[in-house]
Order: sequence, then structure tokens, then C-alpha cells
Amino acid sequence: MTLCQSLILIFAFQCWLPVSLSSQAIRQKADLLIAGGTVVTMDGSRAIYDDGAIAVKGDTIVAVGPRTDLTAKFTPSQTIDARGKLVLPGFINGHTHVPMTLFRGLHDDVTLNDWLYKYIFPAEKKNVNEEFVRWGTRLAAAEQIRSGVTTFADMYYFEDAVAEETKAAGMRGVLGETFIDFPAPDNKSEAEMLAYTERFLKKWKGDPLIHAAVAPHSIYTCSQKMLQDAAALARKYHAPILIHVAEMKKEWEDSQKQHGMSPVQYLDKIGVLGPDVVSAHCIFVDEADRQTLSEKQVGCVHNPSSNMMLASGVSPVPEMRAAGVGVGLGTDGPAGSNNDLDLMEEIDLAAKLAKITKMDPLALNAKAVVEMATIEGARALHLEKEIGSLEAGKKADLILISLDEPNAVPMYSVYSQIAYSLKTSDVQTVVIGGRVVMRDRKLLTVNQEEAIAKAREYQKKIAASLGLQ
Ligand SMILES: [Zn+2]
Repeated sequence: MTLCQSLILIFAFQCWLPVSLSSQAIRQKADLLIAGGTVVTMDGSRAIYDDGAIAVKGDTIVAVGPRTDLTAKFTPSQTIDARGKLVLPGFINGHTHVPMTLFRGLHDDVTLNDWLYKYIFPAEKKNVNEEFVRWGTRLAAAEQIRSGVTTFADMYYFEDAVAEETKAAGMRGVLGETFIDFPAPDNKSEAEMLAYTERFLKKWKGDPLIHAAVAPHSIYTCSQKMLQDAAALARKYHAPILIHVAEMKKEWEDSQKQHGMSPVQYLDKIGVLGPDVVSAHCIFVDEADRQTLSEKQVGCVHNPSSNMMLASGVSPVPEMRAAGVGVGLGTDGPAGSNNDLDLMEEIDLAAKLAKITKMDPLALNAKAVVEMATIEGARALHLEKEIGSLEAGKKADLILISLDEPNAVPMYSVYSQIAYSLKTSDVQTVVIGGRVVMRDRKLLTVNQEEAIAKAREYQKKIAASLGLQ
């Protein structure tokens, strides 16, 4: 080695040393690194990283960016290899009634009125108790995690049991205890509903996964007093209010007859609407209603399968979005109005329903419906600061989707692929609040076999209770 070569080597070593030492010094610890894959952030600029990564500490995302940047910056205790996959924010199911999984397919192809009064109300009276609600919620958790849903909004009875099972499954939920003007399976009077719900709101206050909510069923099943009392209770505890709004023609017609105004205007007049309200359906909403929903910052949840199955009508989603309303997606059901909890199906149908209704293929595009399943869904639930996109500071709720199936290739557009080609069965791995709840399609927080066996047992019991066997 010549002197010159030696000097070059020493110089190179000196240059390398401080860089290496300083990069070692600034390497941060992370609990989880999702490395590789196409990261679809759904952030404000809708950034997509072709070879991206996400670093997670505790239940929170601390960095999102190119894989090479993040692997240089973080020393993770656990890494998930996402190469060849899509990485997305977890889907948000903005409206459902999860314990009703046990009534799935009980009696379909009837009118909503017949379904409710001839089948579901008698079936609920005879079968719904806390145990039923727990098994229904477990089954629903298995189904929802397997379809990439990380957050759902629910309205049912014994909602405290729904909350306990949801938390045990590691899912995020906005869970509303139902108020209704007849004796419910859990609470027989408004006084009981108020007392139960107040205990429920207090118990879950500040929980990292569960947002306890108040769910007055609708204007056609709740008196004005009940609607106002439920809203007042929610506001006392800064809890969300979940309600069905303008979901059928009869509701709109009766509102005109009884109050001389639309359901939206009536709810506004009696002081229920506000930036804490999540309204399911919003089918019969005219321009003035849309303006009110936007001004009052009410979130809306569109349920295309349910609206089609019950022939309820079509929500004016493009117009609501244009008016500035946060519109998410929901499955409703999962019995009678839609017999599954497959949010990816709702993404697909939302776009196609808008197109055929308007006879315009531009009515609602792939990117818009993916937004509705993620960041706009979060806005509809008033949780956009917490979830809905992959950004530093937000909860680490994310899913990995395989692109190795025949239906997944070739891929020219990420949004088109998600909306129209990929299926629930392509969802591989699900992380909620930094915790892996499904890895390579194996559920880690719910005993799927047990939930399925129990559902079969319940089928026999429920059928017998209705004299169907
Ligand atoms: Zn509903």
C-alpha cells in the first residue's frame, strides 16, 4: 500500500466513522416496523410510498415514509415484512348491530315492517340476553377482523357486554347503548335506559379502544323527550350520539305529517344535531337537509347493501360530499338488511350504486369510496384525529392485503384495485393499536372455531323458539 493509498483509506475511515456513529446514536427504538410494500397513507396529500414503511411505538404510529429511511432510523423489536403487499389504514365500519350475527339469514326477502314485527322483535324478545350478545359480538369480531375492519360503530342492547368483547378482541369500537320506546331486552323503561347508559359511559371513559356512546334508535321509535334526554346524557359525558336518520320513506312522510318538516330539520329543531352525532343512512335528505348536516358537522354513514336489500332508496352521497358532509360506509345488518360484515363489498357497491342511480360512471370514483372506508369514515365518526390514515401521531390501525392472487394482478391503480378487484379474503394481517390481531389470516385474539360452533348451537335454539323446527 502506498502512502497515498493509506491516506485515502484513513480519510475514508474518518469520513465513515462519524456518520456511522451518529446514525447509530440517533437510531430510535420502535415496537413494530411494517417494512416494504405499497403504503397507501390516505393522509392529507394522499401520499403513497411504493416501497414504504411504518414505525409504531405502543399503540401509535411514530413515522411513515420510504422503507430505506425508516430502516435507517429505527431499531424495531418486531418487524412485519410487507413486501409485495398493500398496506392501508384499517377499514371503518360506520354502522352495524354486531350481536345480530346470530340472526343472520333468519328470514330474508320480506318488507322491513314484516321482518321487524313478525320475526326480529319476537326473536329478540325470546333470545337476546347478555350471553347472546357476547357470542354474537365474538363471531362478528372474527368476521370483521378477517375482512380488514379495525373500527366499527354499533347500536344494540347490553352494549356494555359488546364493549367488553370488543376490547377482548382488540378491536376499536364506537358502541352505542340503544334507547327505544318499548321495553328492550335489557332495559324496560327510559329511566332504566338512562341509568344503564350513564354507568356504561362512566365505566369506559378514557379507554384507548372503546368509545362508549348513546344510541337513540330513530325519530320513529323514540319520543321527542327520549331523543332529547339521550342527547343530553351523551353531552354530559362528551360521548357520541348514534342514530338512524331518514332511512325510509315512511319515516320522512310521518315526520312531515307530525312535525311539518323532514327528519333532519326535526332533529335540528329539537336540539339533537351537532358535531357529536353520527347518523346512519341519510337517504331522504334534500338540499336544505344536506346544508344543515354540513353546518352542524353531523357525520353520515352510507350503507349500500342494506339500502338495496330493503329497497329503502339511495342516499345522495355525491351531493352530501359536495356539501362538505363527512360520509363513511357501513354494513348495517348483519341480519335482515345485509347478512354479512364485509366492508370491502360496501366499498365496491357504494361506487356502483351511485353510478347506476345517476346513469353516470363518474358519479363516485374508486378513490372516493376508499376515502369513505378510511379517512372520511373516521370523519363521519368524529375520530379523524385518531384514526383513518397512516400518519405519525395516529393510532396504529393498519392492514396488509395480499397482491398474490389472480384477482389482484396486474395493478395499474391502487384505488381501483381496492374498490373493484380485491376481496376480503385477500386481507392477510391486521394490526389494531399496535397489536397484531391477525397474522397471515390466523386470528390471534378471537377463538374462531368456538364462535362458529356456538353460532350453530344458537341457530337450533332460535329456530326452535320461533317454532321454525
Ligand atoms: Zn341500522
